[in-house]
Amino acid sequence: MKKEKIVVIGGGAAGLLAATAAARCGAETLLLEKMSRTGRKIGISGKGRCNITNSASVEEFLPHFGRNGRFLRQCFQNFFSEDIIKILGEQGVPSVLERGGRWFPRSGQAMDVVRALSQLVKESGVQVRHDTPAEEIILRNGAVCGVRAGEKLIECSRVILATGGRSYPRTGSSGDGYPIAAKLGHTVSELYPALVPLVSSKKLTGLDGLSLRNISLRLFVNGKCKAQEFGEIAFQDGKIAGPLVLTLSEKIVQLLKKGKEIELTVDLKPALDKAKLDARLRRDLEKRRGEQINSILRGLLPEELVEICLHECELDDSIDTTAFPAKQRLKLLHWLKDFRLPVVGYGGWAEAIVTSGGVSLKEIDPQTMQSRLVPGLYLVGELLDLAGDTGGFNLQLAFSTGWLAGESAAKAIAVSTPHMP
Ligand SMILES: Cc1cc2nc3c(=O)[nH]c(=O)nc-3n(C[C@H](O)[C@H](O)[C@H](O)COP(=O)(O)OP(=O)(O)OC[C@H]3O[C@@H](n4cnc5c(N)ncnc54)[C@H](O)[C@@H]3O)c2cc1C
Repeated sequence: MKKEKIVVIGGGAAGLLAATAAARCGAETLLLEKMSRTGRKIGISGKGRCNITNSASVEEFLPHFGRNGRFLRQCFQNFFSEDIIKILGEQGVPSVLERGGRWFPRSGQAMDVVRALSQLVKESGVQVRHDTPAEEIILRNGAVCGVRAGEKLIECSRVILATGGRSYPRTGSSGDGYPIAAKLGHTVSELYPALVPLVSSKKLTGLDGLSLRNISLRLFVNGKCKAQEFGEIAFQDGKIAGPLVLTLSEKIVQLLKKGKEIELTVDLKPALDKAKLDARLRRDLEKRRGEQINSILRGLLPEELVEICLHECELDDSIDTTAFPAKQRLKLLHWLKDFRLPVVGYGGWAEAIVTSGGVSLKEIDPQTMQSRLVPGLYLVGELLDLAGDTGGFNLQLAFSTGWLAGESAAKAIAVSTPHMP
């Protein structure tokens, strides 16, 4: 009897774990990767350091994926953060826990994670074919029977589709899996860039590279405050980024699409209420009487913000700081508590860390990751209608869904293929 085979399409975080799990369960497993090497996105993750996962519990993890997070409960119960940390440790890549429950490789090198996972698939007996883009999944009598890659038709009874999302297409994940899944009858919800920098109507290029830590950020939608967070924002390529903004970006992108007016306001001195900040300003002005206003502001603000503050508070160097007008002081006070950044757009796919939207979860069995529509098809990773916050949540989603699909597909084959005497 011909041995049944599993084909995994895509060698990213989800595909590498899916192939390993399938092979470890004894299935003949072939991994098709369209690029010349696997794991390219992992290699650039976490600014080259790879935030592997998070120390949060399963119940704490789920809300980081919004309403759809519930889908992942069984999957995380099957394979979770301690499992990937253990696997990497066994491959010679120990991890360290940092602020915010974030796990990183101790070496600080994302490429060590890529090497470990690429080695893992080979050691598990997976056959890996690089430079092989899969184009179509073939069905016979409604069930999976093969994969077409160029001229080649590869026979198999199970396919795990792990082609990733649409963000950072230069890593290989350019959204190939969505039309492949749609052709088989799956619903693909609208795709948006998520965890993406935001564009302001203000010119911000002078702020590139600046990070503002311990600030309070408020989100206004049509003039109404809808969220307030404390933490860090940053500026890059003339856009607003950093953890707080990236986390809010998924919601903001959708609001912008609906034509809502969006404004972010930054409280640069959240530890001081207005009265305390005013007392501080009076003290500074008194202590540094006669100095130029920009030098006084340097004691209050990062260098990069001084120019923009002077401009927005309509202050110039000629102002007499020995008799600083109360009206100007209050204007400065207000600005420090309420630095406004109107948001008019967002970065494109090349800048988005993840893809929001994807294959509908209603059409997938959360206990196996198998399609409810096509027997033998499994869908995993960023391709699904799931997008997590920053903090290691997205890689864990890929690892866990991949592992569950690999195990389930291999077990299903073991059941359907009777042992030869
Ligand atoms: C800059 C950046 C930094 C990030 N940092 C972090 C982080 O620190 N922590 C975190 O948790 N998440 C991070 N993420 C998100 C995380 O990397 C992704 O969510 C995760 O890699 C998705 O895994 P995946 O396997 O579903 O897809 P991918 O990792 O994108 O893998 C998909 C694979 O499929 C291949 N492929 C695509 N189409 C085909 C085809 N037709 N045939 C064959 N192969 C195909 C691709 O070449 C690719 O190798 C980051 C993302 C980016 C862009």
